[in-house]
Amino acid sequence: MQEQKPILIAGGGIVGLTTALFLHQAGLPVQVFESVRAVKPLGVGINLLPHAVARLYKLGLQAPLEKTGIKTKALSFYSSRGSLIWSEPRGLDAGYPVPQYSLHRGELQLLLLKAVRERLGESAVRTGHALATFEQDEEGVTAHFVDRDGAAVGTYRGAILLGADGVMSQVRAHFYPDEGAPDYSGLILWRTTVEAEPFLDGRTMVMIGNHRMKAVVYPISQEAHERGHSLINLIAELPVPMELPPKKEDWNRIGRLVDFIVPFEAWRFPWLDLPTLFHQAAAIYEFPMIDRTPVARWSFGRVTLLGDAAHAMRPNGSNGASQGIWDAEAVTKALLAHDDPTQALAAYQAERLEPVNKLVLSNRQTGPERVMQMAEEQCPGNCTTHCTCVSRAVLEEVATNYKTLAGFDVDRVQQILAD
Ligand SMILES: Cc1cc2nc3c(=O)[nH]c(=O)nc-3n(C[C@H](O)[C@H](O)[C@H](O)COP(=O)(O)OP(=O)(O)OC[C@H]3O[C@@H](n4cnc5c(N)ncnc54)[C@H](O)[C@@H]3O)c2cc1C
Repeated sequence: MQEQKPILIAGGGIVGLTTALFLHQAGLPVQVFESVRAVKPLGVGINLLPHAVARLYKLGLQAPLEKTGIKTKALSFYSSRGSLIWSEPRGLDAGYPVPQYSLHRGELQLLLLKAVRERLGESAVRTGHALATFEQDEEGVTAHFVDRDGAAVGTYRGAILLGADGVMSQVRAHFYPDEGAPDYSGLILWRTTVEAEPFLDGRTMVMIGNHRMKAVVYPISQEAHERGHSLINLIAELPVPMELPPKKEDWNRIGRLVDFIVPFEAWRFPWLDLPTLFHQAAAIYEFPMIDRTPVARWSFGRVTLLGDAAHAMRPNGSNGASQGIWDAEAVTKALLAHDDPTQALAAYQAERLEPVNKLVLSNRQTGPERVMQMAEEQCPGNCTTHCTCVSRAVLEEVATNYKTLAGFDVDRVQQILAD
């Protein structure tokens, strides 16, 4: 892109900040706008798959990631009786050139924010600036921002506008005004973190259960690991029929143990006592599992969508942030490759939209986690420590197919580092 007007990014989440770092590395001027007044370390655990880690390493973020995240060693699926169905090595242990990281979502956001401020300057991220409206013409985009109370705080002119403003994206709503609330899966997630003795090897992520009830458990803090402990991310998932409240603020509520723990009380296994960990948690958050039905277009002239604004997906497969980090690099490369920004954004969409939309739909079929339901349906209940009812070949096929679909087979990750 030839123009010297800044690239405007709406949203200072993981994807907006990563995009700012890629654009800056490419020598392009950037201004990020974030709606909250102060960025706080919100959320619980998140996974960065090797294809995202390779991209963040290319941004020089290896040292802070190593300090923060757990280098995930394996992903293991267990039946609701505690029998091991399938375990696969992950990251370095699976022969990737980079790790998979499990870490705290808020710590990742702060780590990226620190890098943006150090490299681009303190004023590169304007907080308390929520994108309200925008217009575009042949030479650029004009964006109008408001504060939390809806009062105007500024109007800015840029070459293009990148909407990285999350699942309730204002940029997406501009192009899809009738879309409304995200699609509720019918499942509620109760999420928390608790510091405890490490389980298994202290670096393994486990999923337990079936379609009707599931738990996801993994350690997320290198600092706790170095003290011989684990900060354990816990998720319990159950079906709850309801209408999704229209306001996002009403989704992420403090949850009550009593609302979900009873069916999980029997999940006390020699290698993990799930209910005891939940009983120890200080605060549990309740969150509906949602996504958005894919759309056929993200790029409209000088404006496009990235991350959750473009493709909010169910967390099956732990892919949301990783796909957004891919968008960040892809849009930067497209802007470098094309003088005309509208052509660049069209090229970015041509590369990313179709594969990500497929992934969003695949995650509705529970992604790689469907091996748990296979075991549930095929196992008569006499397996002990290991479930042998589903053939290894079938299990292997599910795992390999998902890695290819989500773009993180070993060869592709090596290629990312080489590019
Ligand atoms: C508070 C919070 C907690 C989360 N917790 C988890 C978690 O525990 N585990 C997990 O796997 N995923 C979590 N996620 C989702 C996860 O971060 C995203 O799926 C993923 O990282 C994609 O990131 P994103 O940058 O596209 O979207 P987001 O992370 O949602 O970031 C979007 C950013 O845009 C800002 N924004 C919104 N509207 C506007 C606007 N109009 N103008 C300017 N800025 C705007 C938001 O404040 C936010 O900072 C959380 C997201 C949020 C916002």
